Amino acid sequence: CGIIGIVGTASVADRLVDSLKRLEYRGYDSAGVATLEQGRLTRRRAQGKLRNLETELARAPLAGHVGIGHTRWATHGKPSVANAHPHATMQVAVVHNGIIENYRELREELLRDGANFESETDTEVVAHLVTRELRGGAGPEAAVAASLPRLKGAFALAFMFEGEDDLLIGARKGSPLAVGYGKGEMYLGSDAIALAPFTDTICYLDDGDWAVLHRGRAEIHNAANDVVVRPIQRSTATA
Ligand code: GLU
Repeated sequence: CGIIGIVGTASVADRLVDSLKRLEYRGYDSAGVATLEQGRLTRRRAQGKLRNLETELARAPLAGHVGIGHTRWATHGKPSVANAHPHATMQVAVVHNGIIENYRELREELLRDGANFESETDTEVVAHLVTRELRGGAGPEAAVAASLPRLKGAFALAFMFEGEDDLLIGARKGSPLAVGYGKGEMYLGSDAIALAPFTDTICYLDDGDWAVLHRGRAEIHNAANDVVVRPIQRSTATA
């Protein structure tokens, strides 16, 4: 039910959790974060309160300067650690708000192609769709661009990739998602409240947009994959 992403210059795990606390007001039943540790996608997830995720992170800390976080309000698959986001393969990790309406047919298709599913969620098909594109030789941007048109329903998505420590990709259709502009860092968040500790300079994606974030710049594409400029706002949300 809440999304946060940081492509940063300092450790992100604690900051992801602090930002998720600011999204608690939306309600959630589980939470998780993923970071890139020495180029590899690493996750911590917990059912219930964010305190449980903090306990898990205290037991097994996560390093890394790029990461994504999520609070989940289950729609498909019971609240559990296995169904908590981020969902991931070796190549990509994703967090999702919303519902992928055609997940059943996508799941069948991906199973036939040999994908191994670890959860009962609608979301996990997104990770496997993008992974199939990456395995076919696409780069991260092309893999996301090829996968988004396959998804029916409402979504805000944030992606991070194995070996890519200066990259986050966000996408939205139906569910809100904002890009935050920091000093040498960039952010993705469900709303200005989540981003307020980091920046007051934000830009809400339009429906169908997807955004490519690096530490020093962000590039927004529309549904036709053209590069577009969206208005940058000064948020008044308090940190
Ligand atoms: N449909 C997804 C799930 O059940 C995402 C739910 C949400 O928006 O938190 O895992």
